[in-house]
Amino acid sequence: MSFFMIDELKRNPMADFEIAVIGAGVVGLAIAARLSRQHPSLVLLEKNEKYGMETSSHNSEVIHAGIYYAPGTLKARFCIEGRDELYALCSTHHIDHRKLTKLISATNEAELNKLESIRQNAEKNGVTLEFLDKQAALRLEPNIRTEGALFSPLTGIISVHGLMDYFFHTTNTNGGTIQHRCRAAGIRKENHGYEIDLDEDGQRSSITSEIVINAAGLGSDLIAEMVGIDIEKENLKLNYVKGSYFAITPSKSNFVARLVYPVPANEGLGVHALKDLGGKLKFGPDVEYLEGRTLDYRVDETKRHAFAESIRRILPGIDDEDITPDMCGIRPKLQKKGGPARDFVIVHETERGLEGFVNLIGIESPGLTSSPAIARYVEKLLF
Ligand SMILES: Cc1cc2nc3c(=O)[nH]c(=O)nc-3n(C[C@H](O)[C@H](O)[C@H](O)COP(=O)(O)OP(=O)(O)OC[C@H]3O[C@@H](n4cnc5c(N)ncnc54)[C@H](O)[C@@H]3O)c2cc1C
Repeated sequence: MSFFMIDELKRNPMADFEIAVIGAGVVGLAIAARLSRQHPSLVLLEKNEKYGMETSSHNSEVIHAGIYYAPGTLKARFCIEGRDELYALCSTHHIDHRKLTKLISATNEAELNKLESIRQNAEKNGVTLEFLDKQAALRLEPNIRTEGALFSPLTGIISVHGLMDYFFHTTNTNGGTIQHRCRAAGIRKENHGYEIDLDEDGQRSSITSEIVINAAGLGSDLIAEMVGIDIEKENLKLNYVKGSYFAITPSKSNFVARLVYPVPANEGLGVHALKDLGGKLKFGPDVEYLEGRTLDYRVDETKRHAFAESIRRILPGIDDEDITPDMCGIRPKLQKKGGPARDFVIVHETERGLEGFVNLIGIESPGLTSSPAIARYVEKLLF
């Protein structure tokens, strides 16, 4: 039994809780907010002192339209469903957001040809993009380098903190319990569910729960390992892939009015122009596979020139001195360096004999956009 008090009213007859969600990022919070409506005997365990301190607060805060993901994948499906749900949630609950729109800009003949395949892929996902010739693109964004562009009317930006606050308060109002500074350190299958060992600031204890949902982001493969899944053999080991951003000097922050992306070349969408809700213009994220699993959120200042060069591909009027290191995030990627793209893994692990255990692994972008749709899917998997 944990030293944190379990409300007698919420106590479940079979176990301390009906549902334990591990990880209070935007995905774990969305799941907790949704499931606690019908199942208030729910605890959300978070190792940090507050929710949303890892990937969910180190990202681009873009509501993606669903353009690039391979049709039929969970990424494509949840991005599109989640996008619409997020816009509706934001309007109803006054969560700060803006449908800023986006251009994907081609700078030469070869890239112009690629625009058509991007447009067709988006179309298969049910996303309509408008082709703009050079003049039309420049009318929207006079400072960019372009030979033609795709216009995405449904791309936007959101306050991820506003969204997480909403999910947090909804979970609380529904009667769910959120326990911070509480690390899941071990999990055992029991007769009526699972026993979870907890480490709360060095104090060890345990709780039992009928259902366990692993939404531990960068730690989700290790949680899967705790229930006996061989993550190497099953190809579920995460790669930590850093993405850094540089901010543009405020005097040039109005060089673009919307998000402007290059035509993607390799892994990632390419360093692109992002505006945040405060009007700050930044560029990023790049793609850097890390050797270890340390969460080092410093931005490497020596990347400045390489960044400025990438930025000038889109925005020629930016000098090296116009940019400063801003922030970075770390992607929990199943895709190996140079390997094929991987989809989200969201599985109720009944086939492994783990009834009531749901794994969410590799929830990289568009995980924020997808969060409400993922929550609905997890509910369907379980109930
Ligand atoms: C650079 C970058 C840019 C991105 N841009 C976008 C974007 O513009 N749009 C978009 O849709 N998506 C974007 N994403 C993806 C998006 O940020 C993630 O998909 C999303 O935040 C994942 O949320 P999560 O809740 O799964 O993970 P996290 O936010 O990492 O939350 C997991 C939580 O689990 C906790 N935890 C881990 N282990 C344990 C344990 N043992 N016990 C208890 N708690 C534990 C962690 O402390 C953490 O709080 C981006 C990602 C990156 C890195």
